[in-house]
Formats: sequence, structure tokens, C-alpha cells
Amino acid sequence: MSHEGIRFVSEDAARKATADERELPREAITPLRVRVNKTEGTGVEIDWKDGHASHWSFAWLRDACPCATCVEEREVEGREPGQPKPQPATLLPMFKAAVRPREVRPVGRYAISFDWNDGHTSGIYSWHYLRSICQCEACKAEAARSAAKL
Ligand SMILES: [Zn+2]
Ligand SMILES: [Zn+2]
Repeated sequence: MSHEGIRFVSEDAARKATADERELPREAITPLRVRVNKTEGTGVEIDWKDGHASHWSFAWLRDACPCATCVEEREVEGREPGQPKPQPATLLPMFKAAVRPREVRPVGRYAISFDWNDGHTSGIYSWHYLRSICQCEACKAEAARSAAKL
């Protein structure tokens, strides 16, 4: 594939991200409490100002990394955020260490970033992005509804 093709895909993704930006009220993207359960390995929990609560496993968040490289890779492979890479069926299952962040850092007041134990560090997870990928039943149902309308 040419570089032109790849660039087009990511510009398209960027436009989609900006369009989403308008849809969420400030309350919905302001976290009241953020828990990163690094030791337990159970993922990230956020309580939002509008009363909503979100939870993601670390593996899910790693596969939803919003850095340009990962977004582009998912676009090319047709994966949704959080969807793992397909494993080749012919290979014996290989041992993979459970995904965990080695470090979690605040990025200004608007985001957090993870130093994942696979060495990847470039994803900046904004509150807006995290809220837009909320995996609670209500949000997943809502996402499925709006996907069906497109
Ligand atoms: Zn990434
Ligand atoms: Zn939700």
C-alpha cells in the first residue's frame, strides 16, 4: 500500500474524532475519581461527574491505544478500538505476559498515558476518548444503535 493511502485513512480517522468531540457535555468528560488497579491487574475504573461509571481491562485499553501508529494499524486491519489482533490459528498458543501498565502518568489535566509492559508508551488517553469508548452495557448498546444508523 502506498503512503498516500495510509495518510488518507488516518486523516479520515482524525476527522471522525473531531466530530465526536462535540457530542459530549463537559460533565460527561470530567472524571471525579480515577482508579488504576495496577497491582491487582484489574484495569481502570473512572467515576464521571455526570454520575456515569466506566471500567476497562488493561488488555482492552492497550488494544484501544489512541496513538497515530495504533489507530492507523487498526484502520488498516479493520479492527475497532479494544479489539485484539487476530492470532494466527496455525501456531501453537504462545505464552504472553498479561497486559499491565508499568507506569501511569497524568498528561496535563485532560488525559493519562500508560507505560505498557510491552514497551509501548505513546498513547495519550484523553478523558474524552475514554468516555467515548466506555464499555458499560448502556454505552455499548448505544454505540451499536448509532453504528446501525450509519
Ligand atoms: Zn499506540
Ligand atoms: Zn458507559
